[in-house]
Amino acid sequence: MERYEADTTISYPCVGAAGKTGGWRDFKPVIDQSNCIKCLRCWAYCPEGAVLRGEDDSVSIDYDYCKGCGICARECPKKAITMERED
Ligand code: SF4
Ligand code: SF4
Repeated sequence: MERYEADTTISYPCVGAAGKTGGWRDFKPVIDQSNCIKCLRCWAYCPEGAVLRGEDDSVSIDYDYCKGCGICARECPKKAITMERED
């Protein structure tokens, strides 16, 4: 994939007054890596910055800060993310 230089501001999740947002979750996103095409839509759309991007553009979930909103699953073009109920 071709890369471009860009000036931007990136924020990172941190502990707020109500604690870590991962504590709000009823459902958690689970990534089927075999179906992921590394398009990074989930990484770009996550409102909490809780989708982690690897050096090879693979993605994983930071469950400390994922609040379980499901946006990543909804935006994934390959349906590689499913929302599963927390235990
Ligand atoms: S469920 Fe919501 S908060 Fe959690 S990783 Fe997906 S988009 Fe981010
Ligand atoms: S949106 Fe889906 S296919 Fe794209 S990087 Fe995320 S999990 Fe992979």
